[in-house]
Amino acid sequence: MTKQRELILAIVRDNPFHLTAEEVYDLARQQMPTIVRATVYNNLNYLSENGLIRRVRMHGGPDRFDGVLEPHEHLVCDVCGKVSDLSIKDIEVLLARESHIKLTGYELTLHYVCPECRARQHE
Ligand SMILES: [Zn+2]
Ligand SMILES: [Zn+2]
Repeated sequence: MTKQRELILAIVRDNPFHLTAEEVYDLARQQMPTIVRATVYNNLNYLSENGLIRRVRMHGGPDRFDGVLEPHEHLVCDVCGKVSDLSIKDIEVLLARESHIKLTGYELTLHYVCPECRARQHE
């Protein structure tokens, strides 16, 4: 694995906030000032295609990258856009049973207003 790829993988794995490619690029540049945007994008594609990280598609926003590979769901704040992990037990079994098809995967994103934003709205 190249130094650049190792760095990008470490950034995604160490970050629980589901970074966008642009945010990964900003963090990578702090540690490796010579890195170019295309290298970051190419490596994010490579890493997600090879199952080392997970690409999370967002409606109306850029894709996010997730270092947590175990199946889980996402909660997105409608106000600040923060993405958090959520794990609903046995949801894959439930989805397969209710849809009567054999699932090869699923993506589930739930929308809400996060506690911080809710607190701010009540101020
Ligand atoms: Zn929020
Ligand atoms: Zn996640």
